[in-house]
Amino acid sequence: MTSSDATEPAAGPLHAALANIVATRLLAWFDRHGRHDLPWQRGITPYRVWVSEIMLQQTQVNTVIPYFDRFMARFPDVQTLADAPEDDVLHHWTGLGYYARARNLHRAARKVCEAHGGVFPRTPDALCELPGIGKSTAGAILSIACGERAPILDGNVKRVLTRLCAIAGDTSRGSTLERLWTLADALTPAERCADYTQAIMDLGATLCTRSRPACALCPLAEACVARAEGTPTLYPSRKQSRRLPERRCQMLVVRNPAGEFLLEKRPATGIWGGLWSFPEIDHGADPATACDRITGEAPGSLHHGTVFRHTFSHFHLDVSPVHIRVPGLGRHVLEDQRLAWYKPGQRALGLAAPVKKLIDALCPAGART
Ligand code: SF4
Repeated sequence: MTSSDATEPAAGPLHAALANIVATRLLAWFDRHGRHDLPWQRGITPYRVWVSEIMLQQTQVNTVIPYFDRFMARFPDVQTLADAPEDDVLHHWTGLGYYARARNLHRAARKVCEAHGGVFPRTPDALCELPGIGKSTAGAILSIACGERAPILDGNVKRVLTRLCAIAGDTSRGSTLERLWTLADALTPAERCADYTQAIMDLGATLCTRSRPACALCPLAEACVARAEGTPTLYPSRKQSRRLPERRCQMLVVRNPAGEFLLEKRPATGIWGGLWSFPEIDHGADPATACDRITGEAPGSLHHGTVFRHTFSHFHLDVSPVHIRVPGLGRHVLEDQRLAWYKPGQRALGLAAPVKKLIDALCPAGART
């Protein structure tokens, strides 16, 4: 029998008793120690909460803050976002990663405007029909922006709950996930839902951290089974780590006589979907032939740069940059909508992260004209 079988409270009176303790202590802690001045906590609207929640998936608060501020300055409301070109949205996401989030955000904004008259729906089911919004994000929008009783279960909350009740098992699937949702629902109070939601997220982010939980400072310490067992960091159960496969490619860093870079818009799906990138060719392909085929220009000069690694969630990509100068503007580039000459700082385009890094290295901001 696992510790979870023995200690997790059954639904009903035990959940109710725990809920009472958790809400009371957590809210008192939140009033004194919670985060109350994050940008999305000012002028709260469903739109601002939604954008912040999507940005905060897989990204730390401190990283998100400047992105959120820039995004709100450019897209202050859902209609502005819906009306914007995708390139502009991706440009404001460049560097945050997981670009499907930005594409879904844009699609969802259009759907809110087209199907809901620019007003976010007020039910979890209707919110979950919008691209990129799952049950937890819907719960966050409804509780934080609308004050409704709606549970959330993001990564921070999963960590707190698995420790609080010593729940073992893979938290992303099946019965474990179901148990966590039942618990999250039972613990969410009817009053002060917005504060409770923010409080449990804050607890996970600031005290109940992944590798060094500060149990001595935690308002839930007396109720926490994992702390009593002395094993908080065993929860949530670790997924079996697997060795990521490795792939290799070459990126053609082509520049014309004006110093502009050749970029290619990637297909909407797949890695860096919808972003602009250097043309990519197979590791064993001939870059000179590829340059001729893609641009209509033979290279004036060509040299190989230093190989670097970019890691995705499911594989490593080893990129060999090939630096090429071409003598003209290339007839194919001028004819093809998916190809463009790009001068840094002069055009808002969403760039794949390694592309931005290479351009910044070759063309530092201070040296741009
Ligand atoms: S007592 Fe420790 S492990 Fe338990 S919820 Fe608090 S910080 Fe997390």
